[in-house]
Amino acid sequence: MILSRSFHKALLAGIMALLCAAVFILPGCSVQTQAPEKAIGITVHVIDVGQGDAILISSSRENVLVDTGDVPDRDKLVSYIKKQGISTIDKVIITHPHADHLGGMPAVLEHFTVKQLYDSGQTTTTGLYRRYLTTVKDKKIPFSILTGGQTLELGDGAVLHILSPGKPYFDGPDALNNNSIVAKLVYGNFSMLLTGDAEQEAEQKLVKLYGEDLHSTVLKSGHHGSNTSSSSSFLKQVRPEVAVISVGAGNEYHHPHPSTLKKYGAMKSKVYRTDRDGTITIYSDGQSYQVRKEKNNQ
Ligand SMILES: [Zn+2]
Repeated sequence: MILSRSFHKALLAGIMALLCAAVFILPGCSVQTQAPEKAIGITVHVIDVGQGDAILISSSRENVLVDTGDVPDRDKLVSYIKKQGISTIDKVIITHPHADHLGGMPAVLEHFTVKQLYDSGQTTTTGLYRRYLTTVKDKKIPFSILTGGQTLELGDGAVLHILSPGKPYFDGPDALNNNSIVAKLVYGNFSMLLTGDAEQEAEQKLVKLYGEDLHSTVLKSGHHGSNTSSSSSFLKQVRPEVAVISVGAGNEYHHPHPSTLKKYGAMKSKVYRTDRDGTITIYSDGQSYQVRKEKNNQ
């Protein structure tokens, strides 16, 4: 009788694991499967770092970290990356030097070997930014500035096309946001547009420069879903099937803005948000893609 009960339990667990593996994309699946082997595709982790951005792209050859979240979430960022078995980060890209993108950098440099660092070339006067420059110099981390038109190869044909910033650079109070590094990750039929905190002015420039080439399977919603980004004409070109919003629960900026969510709703873009879904993992084999969220909240 005991044997029989154990057998049924094991059978049930096996069936559940198979079902959950098969419906990787569906919410409500309680078995925590690992993302498929990265050797056969590309995985993008939009890491839940509260109100900030930290996006890890893993191909079979490289691990690339785009932004590092804010200061309070450093430990969370480090432990997440370590949990992926990563000790060397091939490329770190800082889209712009605001604290919610740069804040985790000291911890990243302390815990991981960083082979190459890129930023937007935009400077600021904060202590955080000054310490970042000093540490990078002291540790002799190879450093370059990214501008529109450059490409970074990530292996297996995965390419990061840098779309922005470019001359003439934006000025004014929103210059750091508007001069964010914007990059389109392309892997076979899959693509993901990474926007930093680029606002409407930058979006309009991108629309003029790239038009429908902005079309992407997944959009990392600009500026945490703020209504200063995700302008209608920009979204019309991007036409994302999935929009991912990296945002902190109950944040003081009230991100994401209801009007942004309404636009995604009107476009039938499926929305994932780190404040509700936790870390969002997108896997693609270059043909199709699957989205997994950390929290089962439905
Ligand atoms: Zn930000």
